[in-house]
Amino acid sequence: MTTSEVIALEKEHIMQTYGRAPMVLVKGHGAYVWDADGKEYLDFLAGIAVNSLGHTHPRVVAALQEQAAKLIHTSNLYYTEPQARLAEILTRISGLDRVFFANSGAEANEGAIKLARKYAKTHFGAERYEIIVTTHSFHGRTLATLAATGQTKYHKGFEPLPPGFIRAEYNDLESVRAAVTERTGAILVEPFQGESGIHPASREFMAGLDELRREKGILLIFDEIQSGLGRTGKLFAFEHYGIKPDILTLAKALGGGVPIGAFLARQEVAEALGPGDHGSTFGGNPLATAAGLAAVSALLEEKLPERAARVGEYFFQRLQGLARRYPAIKEIRGKGLMIGIELDFECKGFVESCRQKGLLLNCTEGKVLRLVPPLIIGEAEVDKAVAILETVFQEGAESQMEGKTSGGCQG
Ligand SMILES: *Cc1c(COP(=O)(O)O)cnc(C)c1O
Repeated sequence: MTTSEVIALEKEHIMQTYGRAPMVLVKGHGAYVWDADGKEYLDFLAGIAVNSLGHTHPRVVAALQEQAAKLIHTSNLYYTEPQARLAEILTRISGLDRVFFANSGAEANEGAIKLARKYAKTHFGAERYEIIVTTHSFHGRTLATLAATGQTKYHKGFEPLPPGFIRAEYNDLESVRAAVTERTGAILVEPFQGESGIHPASREFMAGLDELRREKGILLIFDEIQSGLGRTGKLFAFEHYGIKPDILTLAKALGGGVPIGAFLARQEVAEALGPGDHGSTFGGNPLATAAGLAAVSALLEEKLPERAARVGEYFFQRLQGLARRYPAIKEIRGKGLMIGIELDFECKGFVESCRQKGLLLNCTEGKVLRLVPPLIIGEAEVDKAVAILETVFQEGAESQMEGKTSGGCQG
């Protein structure tokens, strides 16, 4: 099928919830993808922080092919080896004791919310069920995770949302303290906010949450669906703060591109869920966990968190250089290969110009360019991306000088 035929078919039959770029992707390798017309793109969005190993990583491909030829699905009424082995690795690297496998980020957070409520009610009474969540957070699109998400634009039209979520200001400890009551069971927070434009938590905020949990017996849930598994230059973003959560949620990069999510907890907390308390038909299915096992093993063996830290440092320096030349860049935030560039204009048009020049990234919160490339990239890919960004800034600056209303920098 041609590109326009695919797009026409999509427009006719798929619910129109996504704003898609007008291209059809057909293959990928490493940090590159190709569209149906053969055009090559440097992929610095990586399926929204999913393809940390790049596209078609040989270990993930081999694991999938091998597992698909043996056994794809069984249900959780039986044991399978990939699920048990992936659980062993995840508990070892996170320092938590037990894991539950789901199929997406939202589902991982749903499970974490259920676990936190059950634990709090079991230990402190039926009225202890509230979860403090923060502004500008993103936790998913199911009803409970929407309620937890601190961006009202996602709530519109879907009320009533499930109760029990109390909002406080991100990076404002006093606001969280003020939200704590006898009913508070847990605090759910992203150590690095992703969807709302890459905002890392401050050291004081995280230390304060840690203190609060000790004082009040409140559980700390870290949503590391985007920031986890090496993205910020450490295996988990919480390592930057020296604070371990009671419950941790993962998804995105976990399956090397295959849908999978997980929540982990320390032993005492995990025990709150007993037989029949939670479940999933597909969760931890042998195909997804075989992919996860290959992906996490490759991540560790290829030392990709360390690489993300090193290459991220270089990327940051190059971007600081750009910021000195283009005042439209207001701020560069993030760590490792989780980077946000805040502009002083709407960045949709900028992203489209980059795409036309062969660089994929996205625009979040209206004015923030989000760069979450595969962790396998090196200086050469960074240079290439920076060169494209520079060209687009240059064109925008020129068109502004000529007084044009359309150009690289106009939304
Ligand atoms: C992407 C994301 C989610 C939701 O994951 P889905 O797989 O889209 O359900 C939740 N939390 C964070 C921090 C995310 O980045």
